[in-house]
Amino acid sequence: MDKSNTITLQLDKDKVSKMKSFYVENIVPTRSEFVNFAMKNNNLSITVYNSNKAVFQGKDAEYESTIWAGENLSQIWKYDKDQIGSDEVGTGDYFGPICVCAAYIQKKDIKWLTDLGVNDSKKITDNKIIEMAPKLIKRIPYSQISLSNEKYNNLVEIGYNQAKIKAMLHNQVLYNLQKKIKNDKVLTVVDQFLTERKYFSYLEGNDNVVRNIHFETKAESKYPSVAAASIIARYSFLVKMNALSESLGATIPKGAGHEVDNFASDIANKHGFEKLNGYVKLHFVNTKKLNLIEEKED
Ligand code: MG
Repeated sequence: MDKSNTITLQLDKDKVSKMKSFYVENIVPTRSEFVNFAMKNNNLSITVYNSNKAVFQGKDAEYESTIWAGENLSQIWKYDKDQIGSDEVGTGDYFGPICVCAAYIQKKDIKWLTDLGVNDSKKITDNKIIEMAPKLIKRIPYSQISLSNEKYNNLVEIGYNQAKIKAMLHNQVLYNLQKKIKNDKVLTVVDQFLTERKYFSYLEGNDNVVRNIHFETKAESKYPSVAAASIIARYSFLVKMNALSESLGATIPKGAGHEVDNFASDIANKHGFEKLNGYVKLHFVNTKKLNLIEEKED
């Protein structure tokens, strides 16, 4: 068995008893007083300690641990008091807007949020986002902005880079939300995408700059506010992408890969290159890779 493939999960009591009955046929005896139970089959061994820590080993460790982590009853947040967090979506996608959201999470909402299955939106399927986000939006104070492709391309044309655009959008949603909840003292976290110094340098000259921000990378897995914000932002992005797809009568592919190049080339060839201004981020290298059919005179 490949011992290098080891994954450790912190579970809760309910999950552990579920696991124990699930693997009942594969349970093996153990002599350690710290071990609750251990199981073993050809491709997997699991040791569950009395502390509810589970160690998965072997070829199937990754897959099998995702199943148990998936229900996520025991998401552990780094900070579990009142907080604002912001995150953005769409920055790596050639098609579609950039959506930025800030969410306000109070201590009393965190259990509800965790039970709902809120964690990093990148780990949640689109269908699940569409199911969860309306529940969040109904209960949680938030502020959200989607920047259309047309506006985005205009900003790039007058010299803004994407980081500056993101900084301005984050600042705007944070400002709006602090005003909405009438509290600018609460911990405010931004999922970090650049240095603090750079962030504020992009906001120079702006009248309403939100200061005292805590920047942290991977904040969506540590702060429930950032996780909620990333889900709402992702939801807005999906809704906007659906509308764009409908207007083209074809499903727009996400990301910035080969499929996207082909799709964009088709749009340009069918409707003219100018059409793309309302759909893509023109400064992406994808624009140079378009396969445009020259118009022939006959
Ligand atoms: Mg982020």
